[in-house]
Amino acid sequence: NNEALYCIGCGAKIQTNNPDGPGYVQPSTLKKYLADDSKELLCKRCFRLRNYNEITDVDIDDDDFLKLLDSISSQKGLIVNVVDIFDYEGSVIPGLQRFVGDKNILIVGNKVDLLPHSVNQNKLLNWIQQKSKENGIKSVDQIMVSAQTGTNIDKLMTMIEKYRQGQDVYVVGTTNTGKSTLINRIISANSDVKDLITTSRFPGTTLDQIDIPLDDGHFLIDTPGIIHKYQLAHYLDEKELKAITPKKQLRPSTFQLRDGQTIFVAGLARFDFLDEKTNVVFYFNQGLVLHRTKTVNADEFYQKHLGEILNPPYDVTEFPKLHQEEFTSHRKSDIVIYGLGWVTIPANCKVLVHVPEGVRVAMRDAII
Ligand code: GDP
Repeated sequence: NNEALYCIGCGAKIQTNNPDGPGYVQPSTLKKYLADDSKELLCKRCFRLRNYNEITDVDIDDDDFLKLLDSISSQKGLIVNVVDIFDYEGSVIPGLQRFVGDKNILIVGNKVDLLPHSVNQNKLLNWIQQKSKENGIKSVDQIMVSAQTGTNIDKLMTMIEKYRQGQDVYVVGTTNTGKSTLINRIISANSDVKDLITTSRFPGTTLDQIDIPLDDGHFLIDTPGIIHKYQLAHYLDEKELKAITPKKQLRPSTFQLRDGQTIFVAGLARFDFLDEKTNVVFYFNQGLVLHRTKTVNADEFYQKHLGEILNPPYDVTEFPKLHQEEFTSHRKSDIVIYGLGWVTIPANCKVLVHVPEGVRVAMRDAII
């Protein structure tokens, strides 16, 4: 059959001879396609982009990754640092500023679709800016986006144009912040660019990068995801992670608490309220059990029901022990458990928070 075939992704004429040319598919792929007409035919390049997560993730102190950062530090350009607004602490890259030199850093807070509409986004932006400062990052600006729904992607592109000053753009982020989703968003927003994307290798390293052409001969460069040990994700298996990760907008759950009451957030966290009477609001994934008990019985309850009523975790054998931290609010505040969610407490409220060893907790001004 001599009929020409075209890639449904980029429209290039399909060919099986030149692996580096447009429209290339492996002969075996073509054969399979011809045997089963119902499938979509994508060239190798589009297939790789569609099924994106192909850039290898690396550890923060991986030698090749440090080389990569070093090579960036001597280039001109803008750094776009993608963070997960649900897991700021797990997303922040320690030493980023030092690695990238004096380049501008634009902070992109992703997953804004998960926040209730009542969130004051300015407060959140201020918080992210302040946290960046604490981590030694001088951000030139920050923006909230949703790579998933497309919220503010246009604004982001305008900002990138503004701050890159005619130079290349490097997108950096830890794993699970949604960096791949965001890159795919950007690619499909510039759909004519699809067949111009190239995968290449950072010189002297084993690490791939993806270059997306900008309209002036410069590139948006996707770098490997960085694996960060503070992410709650690393203490949970895939199924548990699925259970804690919100898929849609958070819905608040309000509790009126009396003296000496405890709320468990599944088996993952525990809040003891030390005041007489308190109204608190929980913002966690809807499927997660919020279980109220008397604080005096809480230890025993946890031991007895961990992995049962209090799940996830499902497998309790390797789950780290809870440790506790005390917080007292001076204003209306959020107690944030990175990667999990937060609790809003009123002013002058004292709370004992228990989380697995290694998981970070912090207090911030309430964002709602
Ligand atoms: P990467 O490891 O940084 O490349 O992250 P991915 O793009 O693979 O995304 C990690 C997880 O976050 C996936 O489950 C995505 O579906 C999810 N995700 C990515 N962007 C968003 C977003 O804007 N909103 C929400 N709710 N989830 C997102």
